[in-house]
Amino acid sequence: MQVKPWGTRGSTATSRSDILKTGGNTTCIEIFSDCLPKDTAFFIDGGTGLVPASKNVYFDRKIKDILLLLTHYHHDHTQGIPLSVFPFIDGCMTTVYGPIENNIGPYKIFCDFLFRKPVFPVNFEEVAHRHKMHSLHHIGTQVMIIHPIGGTILLSVDKYRQLEREERHIPFKENEYHSVKECLVIWMREVSHPDKTISFRIEEKPTGEVFVFMTDTENTDGISRDIINHLFDADLLIIDCQHSRVAYEDFAAGFGHSTPDYVARLAHKASVKKVALTHHDPGASDDDVAMRVAECYQALRELDNTFKPQNVFAACDYMLLDVSGDHVVEQNDPIPKKVAQAVPADSKKEHVNQDPLVEIVHTYKKYGMQTTVLLCGLTTMLWAIQELEKNIDEMREEQGLPEDFELPPPRLTTFVKLLLNRTFPS
Ligand SMILES: [Zn+2]
Ligand SMILES: [Zn+2]
Repeated sequence: MQVKPWGTRGSTATSRSDILKTGGNTTCIEIFSDCLPKDTAFFIDGGTGLVPASKNVYFDRKIKDILLLLTHYHHDHTQGIPLSVFPFIDGCMTTVYGPIENNIGPYKIFCDFLFRKPVFPVNFEEVAHRHKMHSLHHIGTQVMIIHPIGGTILLSVDKYRQLEREERHIPFKENEYHSVKECLVIWMREVSHPDKTISFRIEEKPTGEVFVFMTDTENTDGISRDIINHLFDADLLIIDCQHSRVAYEDFAAGFGHSTPDYVARLAHKASVKKVALTHHDPGASDDDVAMRVAECYQALRELDNTFKPQNVFAACDYMLLDVSGDHVVEQNDPIPKKVAQAVPADSKKEHVNQDPLVEIVHTYKKYGMQTTVLLCGLTTMLWAIQELEKNIDEMREEQGLPEDFELPPPRLTTFVKLLLNRTFPS
């Protein structure tokens, strides 16, 4: 199993010359495992890190099925969702799981907060068909199981334990059973944070590797038996460590975040093998984050003088981590230049803001033109632009195009494609 943090900043995205190592995207991590269904990308949280991640997943890796688990709905964990490419591409399907509290679960969050004019220029109704929403009602008493063929199901912990005890296969669909030994098993635990928040413990059964993601959690959780069980023997723990002990005591207590000494005590008690600190304070420089790491390592050494220095480190944007073994595989900028040019995010935002589609349809209707005719017109226009782009040199020679004739700007092509991809009002 491998893990790639695409965003490790807490509270708000940031950009400064002194954070080039850690990065400035907010929380989003991707998990790679052979237990996932083929061509599925699996993320936890949709902070601004999801924006570059989505471009990498769709344009570079050609993946269209997305599994997105949400720890909670604070802005820094959801802001990248409407700005990612997934909601706007036909054929992409994002399956979302998130907590529900006071009847507010993922559907309501997407519908009423993330995709809602005038907060965002596209209402959820326009992209809802590219999403499947699931509320997590029973955190702590339910377990999520993922199988490469069976897909994803939720089972009660009791049922799961019974099947495991009796060495029976897991029922994924009617008459479809798979061995738990081929699965990712995901345990959930509510953590100490304002508004319901989940930590995920991911066990990869074929390898026995364990990864725990515990962001947005405060020291107030203590060192209970329950939390130790949740973290126990993890090969890799990525955990909130936003504040230094001094900052916590001076002003940050009650904000919902942890300190290096608390992280060290948890990791020590739960026999965690590697600890990566995350949810870096937006004001923290790379040096400040390194200080959190040093504080944590010092506290760990005082509890266990065999803990190796390389096994506590800062999670950084775009790192690729092996859950077991050496921690960093690579760290690079994942956005190829061609993708940066091709992505219609900017033009989409600008044009959708003006809602040109409705305007065009209304104008054409005023003159009695049907939507189908408009669609034909747009398709022909796109074809003509693309032909022109392909054959511009020949056309210059054969058809005597003037020397100063210029191709239509790429944004026009993008815009036409965008219109063709949208649902037209009838
Ligand atoms: Zn947060
Ligand atoms: Zn939060």
